[in-house]
Amino acid sequence: MTRNLLAEPDVEPAPETNTPAGDDPPRDREGRVLLHGLSRAQLASALELDAADTERVWRALYRELTPDLARVPGLSPARARDLRARARVDALTLAEVRESPDGTRKLLLDTDAGARVEAVLIPGARRTTICISSQVGCAMNCQFCLTAKMGLRGNLATAELIAQVVIARRRFRDMPPIGNVVFMGMGEPLHNVERVIAATRILVDQRGLDLGARRVTVSTSGLVPAIERFGRESPAQLAVSLNATTDEVRDWLMPVNRRYPLARLLACLRAFPLRPRERITLEYVLLAGVNDSLADAARIHDMTQGIACKVNLIPFNEHPGTEFRRPDERVVLAFRDALRERGVSTSVRRTRGDETMAACGQLGRPGPRPPRRTVPPARLKPRA
Ligand code: SAH
Repeated sequence: MTRNLLAEPDVEPAPETNTPAGDDPPRDREGRVLLHGLSRAQLASALELDAADTERVWRALYRELTPDLARVPGLSPARARDLRARARVDALTLAEVRESPDGTRKLLLDTDAGARVEAVLIPGARRTTICISSQVGCAMNCQFCLTAKMGLRGNLATAELIAQVVIARRRFRDMPPIGNVVFMGMGEPLHNVERVIAATRILVDQRGLDLGARRVTVSTSGLVPAIERFGRESPAQLAVSLNATTDEVRDWLMPVNRRYPLARLLACLRAFPLRPRERITLEYVLLAGVNDSLADAARIHDMTQGIACKVNLIPFNEHPGTEFRRPDERVVLAFRDALRERGVSTSVRRTRGDETMAACGQLGRPGPRPPRRTVPPARLKPRA
């Protein structure tokens, strides 16, 4: 396949790893139903369960975090054996855990299809945040992101999204409990929008994993139609990677901007449905000499008028092969202060997990394919 030199993102439907046919529930290669992806109604119909048994299985999956259906309290042993033969609990296998000195843990998880995805556990004072992957690789081709260099290998099934959270909760009881889920790992979650929306519903279910809707956040590079759908159908919070304040720079850094330019993206955010006190998070990766000027800060203020938002600055995390650099700390703080002085609520994301390449934009292993480059505006060459 030849690659477009302008490196437009490929935002057509992505290949799937566990493809359901029609209304059939997703299954693994042995034909077992993947339970973690199913709504209650789907669970009941796939396993021919009555309402009470559906609730027992739901509870076992998401409260007791059972790895094995042989042990569902309240089900007869024969019924449990039958379920165990027909259904599968964890859709991923935990292959490796890498711990950073700062307490961050990177989990490497294998899909049945032989792909590897990464999730990162970031402990806080009272709760741990888990950053999960939504795809194997990514199609968006953001110029500063390591995952982009893999290209897109496939979508994760809903069960594979949920498995990242369930496996981590079951396994790591020595950290504060997992209380935040962010879809900020590998992939573009809204390029896999249907399964991501289904996963957010399962995460917030109060008789299940019971994450508050305010504690589940989906981050997107800016796929406008999918943002609109997400706003209608998901209980979770929205984060958008802004990363530039002009179309010229954003076209270069994030080719998705050629399809959905800033004016269209911002109009969509102005119309985005929010509940009281909810705000959209605007992520902004700070790249030295590229998007970190005080003029950029002033433009962020201007362009976010009418959007209920907070800005989260992410000083660039360097990775092998990148030409981009992290700005000096004083530049980061001056940028933050320039926003705050204009009344924009702004925080700076502290780098965690850098030692194990678990920080933002450091997930994934670039494949054999050479990275595609887009052309920077003439006056904006990153330092080599
Ligand atoms: N595809 C989604 C979610 C994954 S990236 C999105 O684009 O929002 C999560 C955040 O990390 C995004 O805001 C992205 O811009 C940022 N990011 C990517 N590479 C980075 C890097 N090397 N250093 C710092 N942040 C990075």
